[in-house]
Amino acid sequence: MSDTWLVRAVAVEPWARDLRRRIHSNPELSGLERETAALVAETLAALGLSPRTGVGGHGVVCDIGGEAPGPMVALRADMDALPIHEATGLPYASQRPGVMHACGHDGHTAMLLGAASMLAAARDRLRGTVRLVFQPAEETVAGAAAMCAEGVMEGVSAVFALHGWPGIDAGVVATKSGAVMASTDTFEIAIEGRGSHGAYPHLSRDPIAIGALVVTAAQQIVARRIDPLEPAVITFGTFHAGTATNIIPAAATLTGTMRALSPAVREALPRLLEETARGVCASQGAGCSCTIRAGVDPVVNDAEWTALAVEATRSELGGEWIAELHTPSMGAEDFGVYLRHAPGAFLRLGIGNEAVGHDCKYDFNDGALVHGMACMASVAERALEAAARP
Ligand SMILES: [Zn+2]
Ligand SMILES: [Zn+2]
Repeated sequence: MSDTWLVRAVAVEPWARDLRRRIHSNPELSGLERETAALVAETLAALGLSPRTGVGGHGVVCDIGGEAPGPMVALRADMDALPIHEATGLPYASQRPGVMHACGHDGHTAMLLGAASMLAAARDRLRGTVRLVFQPAEETVAGAAAMCAEGVMEGVSAVFALHGWPGIDAGVVATKSGAVMASTDTFEIAIEGRGSHGAYPHLSRDPIAIGALVVTAAQQIVARRIDPLEPAVITFGTFHAGTATNIIPAAATLTGTMRALSPAVREALPRLLEETARGVCASQGAGCSCTIRAGVDPVVNDAEWTALAVEATRSELGGEWIAELHTPSMGAEDFGVYLRHAPGAFLRLGIGNEAVGHDCKYDFNDGALVHGMACMASVAERALEAAARP
């Protein structure tokens, strides 16, 4: 009998850990993943595979064909880092000031390379093709769309991804069917008031005071206009106006993010926000313009493919290493873009750390690599079998 994926993952782990730390030391911002993509392509080529580079920016795509023909499933990892100055003090900490792998994408990339080496060495077990998708620009939620526009999802029956997750015990895989990550859309509200001397407010249409009303009124949208059983977030991230203590400025600009788990709420939020902002500004004699920038869909896991991923993980790692996720996150991920093209599942991989994602002390826990690699390989193998069934 051939080795289990878990046994193979243990053998591959030192190599994958070394790759993870090399990527961690050399982080690259979204859209600039030139060296990371080159390392990925080189590593895949050294495994005897034929990666395609430059897909949707610095994306890399690589197919591993099994000995038996069959359908195709995709595994996705993201490669980009964040504009954060690392403060971990680790020997393999970022060598690039102000840039850091603080979301674990170094771990995701290393795990998918590890899974690639395991799958490439076990083609006899595969009935079909495993497509590896190394994505750029996840943090700017642009990379998935760019890769899909170049056809990476054509012919793919199901797609899976694993994201490291602090707060879940290291090595535990957790997921659920249905929504697991939120949509994100951004807004900018420009308030056109009238400036004046700070001593003569009656001659102004004070955009700061009106902006404060807009922020307050917007809280009513989630509290009173959206079904309380439907999660929604409206967060104002910036509020810019004014130049001096005794001047009422003529304009103010507010920006922020809107999040939802259902398409209906996602669609309602921009309309309600614009209506509220315009109404408040009109009542105070100010003009208002709202600009909405569409971000990404919520990540909604397919029930059947999630059940398959859970079962594959359970049989590979043992029941104590798979957990039912009870609540989704209002964080966003552009994995939902792939799910427009094929169903699939987004899995969390516990890394046990205390530092949350996007924190300057964050470090992907190498202790989770083995389970991550075994999980991905096992899910791919079983998904191919399931996709081949009529
Ligand atoms: Zn992130
Ligand atoms: Zn991330």
